[in-house]
Amino acid sequence: MGTSATKPENPTTSSVKSVAVIGAGVSGLAAAYKLKSHGLNVTVFEAEGRAGGKLRSVSDHGLIWDEGANTMTESDVEVQSLLDDLAIRDKQQFPISQNKRYIVRNGLPVLIPTNPISLIKSNILSTQTKFKIFLEPFLWKKSNSKVSDDHTAESVGGFFERHFGKEVVDYLIDPFVAGTSGGDPESLSMRHSFPELWNLENRFGSIIAGLIQSKLFVRKEKSGETKHSSGKKKPQRGSFSFQGGMQTLADTLCKELDKDELKLNSKVLSLSYGVDAKSDIGNWTVSSAAKSDKQSKGLSVDAIIMTAPLCNAKEMTITNRGTLFPLNFLPEVTYVPLSVLITTFKKENVKRPLEGFGVLVPSVEQQNGLKTLGTLFSSMMFPDRAPSDLYLYTTFVGGSRNKELASASTDELKQVVTSDLRQLLGAEGEPTFVNHFHWKKAFPLYGRNYDSVMEAIEKMEKNLPGFFYAGNHKGGLSVGKAIASGCQAAELVIAYLETSREPPDARRLNS
Ligand SMILES: Cc1cc2nc3c(=O)[nH]c(=O)nc-3n(C[C@H](O)[C@H](O)[C@H](O)COP(=O)(O)OP(=O)(O)OC[C@H]3O[C@@H](n4cnc5c(N)ncnc54)[C@H](O)[C@@H]3O)c2cc1C
Repeated sequence: MGTSATKPENPTTSSVKSVAVIGAGVSGLAAAYKLKSHGLNVTVFEAEGRAGGKLRSVSDHGLIWDEGANTMTESDVEVQSLLDDLAIRDKQQFPISQNKRYIVRNGLPVLIPTNPISLIKSNILSTQTKFKIFLEPFLWKKSNSKVSDDHTAESVGGFFERHFGKEVVDYLIDPFVAGTSGGDPESLSMRHSFPELWNLENRFGSIIAGLIQSKLFVRKEKSGETKHSSGKKKPQRGSFSFQGGMQTLADTLCKELDKDELKLNSKVLSLSYGVDAKSDIGNWTVSSAAKSDKQSKGLSVDAIIMTAPLCNAKEMTITNRGTLFPLNFLPEVTYVPLSVLITTFKKENVKRPLEGFGVLVPSVEQQNGLKTLGTLFSSMMFPDRAPSDLYLYTTFVGGSRNKELASASTDELKQVVTSDLRQLLGAEGEPTFVNHFHWKKAFPLYGRNYDSVMEAIEKMEKNLPGFFYAGNHKGGLSVGKAIASGCQAAELVIAYLETSREPPDARRLNS
């Protein structure tokens, strides 16, 4: 059934420019915060009745858990500034023993080595593979780096196998990519999934030599910086969450918006760009509607930041100066499905509990009867997430490894998770609590043809004036990268509006 549009309302009668942000995930909220801080009018449109997108914390039954992202890092400068500006650092929670992370080998968890000595001692890899790792800086001199130029569509698996061999792919890379993107090493593009490592190979040949040299360089730069710095506290390294879970970040960002600046239950249906013939000033009309609404509402703005997943953007109707801008050039993005299972067990029933962050299960370990992708030891990391007599676990099932299982029933998934936790941690009996959340489209897969997705995004940005794309389809899947992407888009909008503020003649001269 079609919807009919009403006359667009203008958010302001003043000369202040206005921006619509589509999607209230963390990238959209970060972009909106940045735009508002710059003095612009901002309206965030969110299709769902809640803000946060893939940040989704629940507090119930005396437990706190996350159904989406569990932790984040602040390696991107945009994240550091955002956390400082929001004054949210007192709510940051750092996991206890976060460097203790485990990978399953021969059906049982093995601590991941964190330094060369512990790697030598560890039984996670064979002696032959350990040699290969130590020899990598000598075997991969800069002269070999040409290889990667011809491999722009190389898979993550192919890349790491070239450098370190198959065992590293099977036991380190496979579980890592499954745990961070739901993907598998063969489908994922190296260039898009690990751009920093991809570039290191181009610069140094060896990954290890490149990592060491770039770390030394950063350290040098930082020590130079601290001499001149204004005494700001150095951010703690590693992953973290917030009191109350990751949703606290989304909620804090929402609090920065006035009621009419965040429109929940407002699915954007169409965008239309037009230019006023007299003033030569262009603007956008954003039409949105609640799911049940037949009547759409229009809002007139000067620029757009789109953070809705590409599959949702593709459903929108976009017109440019009265002509339909067909989105049929947008390639189909593959999305990875995932189920998140929260379980609690009485502490006395867990015979081999592990301290630390969590355990990842390599695909090859399915032969030992394990079906889950991995489990976070949530209440070990953050003891306030469950009463003191319980362990709370967050387990991921599905991914590109096991798409069908991602959409299995809660009962079936409970059996799968209970069986894996029994084998890995000695969790006996039934869990005392179970919660299941199914993400049909948890992550966009940065597949080997992801260039075409990036090109399509660029084409939209190039052909649609004042239209910018941000979020986890561009530049990284993590919360940190999504925030960085939102902040960068906000910067671009600010620059765009600065130039479009100039009289039309000056703009033509500048272009
Ligand atoms: C289960 C899971 C676990 C994860 N774990 C981690 C982790 O531990 N650490 C980490 O760094 N990252 C993690 N991630 C990834 C990270 O959470 C996401 O990549 C990031 O939060 C994405 O933010 P975003 O703003 O780009 O997109 P989203 O959060 O997807 O936000 C997009 C928003 O757009 C809205 N929207 C869609 N269509 C429309 C429309 N037509 N009109 C208006 N609004 C619309 C959607 O409803 C949504 O709210 C995890 C993701 C999942 C799913």
